[in-house]
Amino acid sequence: MDASGGAAAASCGSAGASGSPSAPVTPPSSETGSGGAAESGGSTEAERVARIEAAAGEILEAVGEDRGRQGLQETPLRFAKAMDFFTSGYRAAIDDVVNDAVFLNERQCGECDASDVVVVRDIDMFSLCEHHMVPFYGKIHIAYLPGAKILGLSKFARVTDVYARRLQVQERITQQVADALTAILEPRGLMVIVEATHLCMCMRGVEKCGASTVTTAARGAYAESPALRQEFVALSKS
Ligand SMILES: [Zn+2]
Repeated sequence: MDASGGAAAASCGSAGASGSPSAPVTPPSSETGSGGAAESGGSTEAERVARIEAAAGEILEAVGEDRGRQGLQETPLRFAKAMDFFTSGYRAAIDDVVNDAVFLNERQCGECDASDVVVVRDIDMFSLCEHHMVPFYGKIHIAYLPGAKILGLSKFARVTDVYARRLQVQERITQQVADALTAILEPRGLMVIVEATHLCMCMRGVEKCGASTVTTAARGAYAESPALRQEFVALSKS
């Protein structure tokens, strides 16, 4: 992996790279979990699960299965509940997730220098690619240079889940996590690296499972400093 130059490899269905890591795809917003994806239209859980369950039953018949056989009787319902969870990010609000875990940075800047970096690495990420509705999964690493605020460490994983639990492309998760955290923390700089394996590449198409896709998003000082990016890449691996 070499993310130091800001290179972003294309994910499964994309024709090309996602462009410069310093160019946000979506505007910063800390208000909601939305952005770049459809909302669920205000449906209740029971309504969503019933619709997905009916569709899953159709799929079982379409592939030639006997949906009445013992092992499949509850499969459409189980699938529906799982899919509702996998897409629960559409219904999550970033402000609720972050809640009361934004703290004042007691060492206010002026005293800070570039070495005061906070790195949270190896956060597990599981998502569904929007081109095939097949999982992609991997690790997300986040670095930031605090300004006046810091965030409880567990919240970085929660923010990641808000964007990962949707139909996604890896490039967009990377940008959305960077933009959401930038809006929440107002840091001097922030960078996100995502490394993921896409099962739609492993199980179909090119069937190359050894390939991992790396995407980056850099904001503030990280967008301007190759040295900071290189330091983070090194920290994310050590
Ligand atoms: Zn795909």
